[in-house]
Amino acid sequence: MRIYNTLTKKKEELKPLGNELLIYLCGPTVYNFIHVGNARTLCVFDVFRRYLSYKKIPFKFVMNYTDIDDRIIDGANENNMPAKEYAEKYIDEFLVDSNGLSITPPSVTPRATESIDAILEIIDNLVDNGHAYVAENSDVYFRTRSFEDYGKLSNQDIEQIEEGHRIEYNDVKEDPMDFVLWKSSKPGEPSWESRYGNGRPGWHIECSAMAKKHLGKTIDVHCGGLDLVFPHHENEIAQSESYSGEVFSRYWMHVAMINVDNRKMSKSLGNFFTVREISDIYGYEPIRFFLINAHYRSQINFSKKAIESSLASLKRINIARENLERAIESADSSGEDILLDSAKKRLGQFETSMDDDLNTADAIAALFDLIRDINTSEGQSKDSLSKTAEIFDIMTGVLGIKAETDGDDIPPEVIQLLEERKRSRENKNYAESDRLREVLLEKGYRVEDTKDGQVLRKNN
Ligand SMILES: [Zn+2]
Ligand SMILES: [Zn+2]
Repeated sequence: MRIYNTLTKKKEELKPLGNELLIYLCGPTVYNFIHVGNARTLCVFDVFRRYLSYKKIPFKFVMNYTDIDDRIIDGANENNMPAKEYAEKYIDEFLVDSNGLSITPPSVTPRATESIDAILEIIDNLVDNGHAYVAENSDVYFRTRSFEDYGKLSNQDIEQIEEGHRIEYNDVKEDPMDFVLWKSSKPGEPSWESRYGNGRPGWHIECSAMAKKHLGKTIDVHCGGLDLVFPHHENEIAQSESYSGEVFSRYWMHVAMINVDNRKMSKSLGNFFTVREISDIYGYEPIRFFLINAHYRSQINFSKKAIESSLASLKRINIARENLERAIESADSSGEDILLDSAKKRLGQFETSMDDDLNTADAIAALFDLIRDINTSEGQSKDSLSKTAEIFDIMTGVLGIKAETDGDDIPPEVIQLLEERKRSRENKNYAESDRLREVLLEKGYRVEDTKDGQVLRKNN
């Protein structure tokens, strides 16, 4: 499998350094509901790990919670609750959305507030080695110019950065390029003891520390949104590599941004959508489908229309899978294997796409090619059909859009009605069969008559 490495600006063969691929994803700062941009990162790297599992590549996946931050403290104050409780609330809300989006739980989900020792170990070392210093207000800053490779990820040198970016100036820093590792606490703020007095960690150092604690000094893949390349990931590299003297992450994968109605998503433009708001209207499934339906490095545009077209795509997927299930039930050992032959080809297409920098767009196209094959096939053997179904489920399983095959959750009284209707049709009592169709409709089920018999669909 090849992936595009932001660090080298090219696609590279993905190989773990050790026995398993060590992956770190910058997780949410838990001060609010997640927005669709956060969800894209989650869904993309969920597909990534589902595909690694499918390819039997062992991995360890760490995603942190940033559960201490200015925005958490502000939100907690506004709501008159302790910061810890406020963060806890949004971790719970995150998990609701994460489950809704079918995100596989990470191997470890460390929290910044539970990683203070690991954070201070790195800060103390950086101070001792001259890569960091204590300012007169007891904040600790990283001495950015002490790290020669600064800018290597975002491909800019330090002078360019100083001119081109909004750098935070203040009186206590030696150099405007320096960034904070430890903030001395104001009265009433959550704080932890340190050599520098009571304080709390800066955002960048948290990730360096949690990655090192749970994965080691050198990790294989560091993931995140494209907006984190600078300064967050650049700073993580500077801290970690100054601390360990070793490469921090061998590969860097970044997910592109989302526009809303062709404009940059922002709170001030009023086009800012949380996952919860959208899922309340459409459910989670079309959100996930929309987010993985394009290649992760291409910018995508969120709109009502895009979600509705995702719903339509999911419906096609579900119907094809149901049709396949019914065909399996009515088929026997005689018949052709043409469908299976083409399904194998589609799986090959699917894998080739996924191997090429996780190209989910082409992988989904392969799934729809398979659906077309299914919808036009006839007279296939039971074996051909059930093996095709296995391939179908592999694809939807990797994409995390597993089609419902229903069956088990149909209430018994509905099955009873279906049986009665079948009998009335056999007796050519069409008035009764029409009446039963109405009754089923009232119960939320739509029944269609096909050459293979009655087909039941849930009315949404
Ligand atoms: Zn991070
Ligand atoms: Zn050094």
